[in-house]
This record gives sequence, structure tokens and C-alpha cells, in this order.
Amino acid sequence: KIMITGATGQLGRLIVENVRSRIPAEQVVAGVRKLEQAAYLREQGVEVRYADYDVTESLDEAFRGISRLLLISSSNTDDTVRLIQHKRVVDAAKRSGVGHILYTGFAFPRQRSEQSNPDNVHTLTEQVIIESGLEYTFLRNALYIDFVGVLGLKEALSSGELITAPGEWKFNSVTRGDLALATAAVLSEGEAGNHIYELAAARTWDFTDLAEVLTGVAGKPVVHRQDAAAQHWIYAFMSKLDTSSTSGDLERLMGRPVTPLKESIMPFIELPE
Ligand code: NDP
Repeated sequence: KIMITGATGQLGRLIVENVRSRIPAEQVVAGVRKLEQAAYLREQGVEVRYADYDVTESLDEAFRGISRLLLISSSNTDDTVRLIQHKRVVDAAKRSGVGHILYTGFAFPRQRSEQSNPDNVHTLTEQVIIESGLEYTFLRNALYIDFVGVLGLKEALSSGELITAPGEWKFNSVTRGDLALATAAVLSEGEAGNHIYELAAARTWDFTDLAEVLTGVAGKPVVHRQDAAAQHWIYAFMSKLDTSSTSGDLERLMGRPVTPLKESIMPFIELPE
């Protein structure tokens, strides 16, 4: 049996859906921390087990008979807590005889030599997994496209100007739908041995590309302009990440190209009246 933790989350539910289209529902187990939110999974014939990253006994119980376990990284806002939670999951997986653990980290982790902070929760969790001796697959997810939600796309469509903070920004962003498709393929195929995949796009985009896409949507020119006043905490956050490297892993695992930028941003655009 394979198990997906965080199965009621935005990424988790999409992964369960994709896995279900590949393998029989009776081989799929959904790990959730709120059983009352999982009725819809049971209705689909998926077994639901209580698995709270904060409750060791729940994990020991939940992981019984699981051969492949996907740990979806915790959404707790405190990285110290997240690491403790992840370690609790890995330890329980080891005790329960899980054969293979898969972990959703972040794409293109910086190397120690690059002087940025490599001791982030994903790198440290990967380390914990390696040290556990469990067979592993690291699914390093690129930046969710959701961040475009704070870039003022709606305003750009009506004003004809996409105003961003200055800088040579390049982005490698992905949709959860694409990540879920690739992750489900890896989970269901059950390849032995250790693997690391960078689930990122094969091409990056910049604000000029985004303005072009917005031009197509608006049906009138939208131009990009840099303005030091256009600040948002997201720029500081993104400047700490490698969002400009690329990888063919995601497309290869999906067996199709990544969702185009235009389609990816549509959920974040409300067309002007
Ligand atoms: P969501 O917040 O939608 O889902 C997070 C899941 O984690 C939920 O199912 C939640 O349970 C579960 N969870 C949180 N705490 C616990 C716990 N103590 N025990 C068991 N489960 C728990 O996030 P997404 O699905 O969108 O993203 C998945 C993960 O990806 C995030 O948790 C985060 O670590 C990471 N992330 C990646 C980003 C990227 O750009 N690559 C951006 C943001 C986050 P419940 O459903 O009960 O709330």
C-alpha cells in the first residue's frame, strides 16, 4: 500500500486524485490530521488514517503495512517545529517498516559554499532521511505559481502597466497540478533505489514575458515597468531562493510539457468588467 500524508491539503488532494487514476483505490491510503475533513476520500474507496505530525502514536499506527510513504512537508509556519514534525514522521516510518519514503522539498537547494542559508528545513529533512537509512526519493518542488497573486495582475490588466520591484528577476514556477501529476507517477511506479528529482520547469520566465501574456489576456498592451516603490515582502523572500535554474525532470515524469504561463496565471486574474 502507498500512503500520502497531508492528503487533505491543496497538493495532497491532487496527488491522491492522480494516484487513484493509476492504481486501485484499495492500495491507496490517505493520511490526515482531521478525520472529519476526509469523508470525501472514503466515499472514493480510499482508506483514511489519522496521521498527525505532532502525535507520534498516530504515525506508528498509520504507517503499518505501508510500503511507500509520501511525506508532504508540513505547513506549520515555524521551521523549527516543521523539522521536528518531519523527523517524527521519518522515525515512525522507520519503526513501522516503511520500505521507501518520498519527501516534497524545495527545488535547487543552495550549496553551503554559496553563503546563503543552506540549513533550511527541506535540506535538513533530506539529511534526516538519508541518515535514517530508509530508501528515499526527494521531490524538490519549484516555487508555486501562486506568488503571482501579489504582483498586482488585475491592476496591470486595467492600467496597462505591470509595475514590479527593480531587479533581474527570473522565475521557475510550477502549478500544483503539474507537481501532482509527476509525483503520482513516481509514487505509483515504485522504482527501487534512491532518487532526487527537481520538479521544476524546463524554462524560466521574467516580467517581460508576464507582461506579454497579460497583453494577450487584456487584448491591449500591458508593459512592464520597474519601480522602487513597488515593494512587497515576497521579493525579499524570493531573493533568497534559486528561482532561475531549470530542469527537465518534471516534464519527463509528466510525459508532457509544463502548463504554459498563461494558463497557470488565469486562476489569479479577475478580468476587468
Ligand atoms: P496546504 O497548506 O494546502 O497543505 C498542507 C497540508 O499539511 C495539509 O493537508 C495540512 O493538514 C497538513 N498538515 C499541517 N500540519 C500537519 C500536522 N501536524 N500533521 C499532519 N498534517 C499536517 O499546502 P499545499 O498542499 O499547497 O503545499 C504542501 C506543502 O508544500 C506545504 O505544507 C509547504 O510545506 C510546502 N510549500 C511549498 C511552496 C512552494 O512554492 N513550493 C509554497 C508553500 C508551501 P490540514 O489539511 O488538516 O490542514
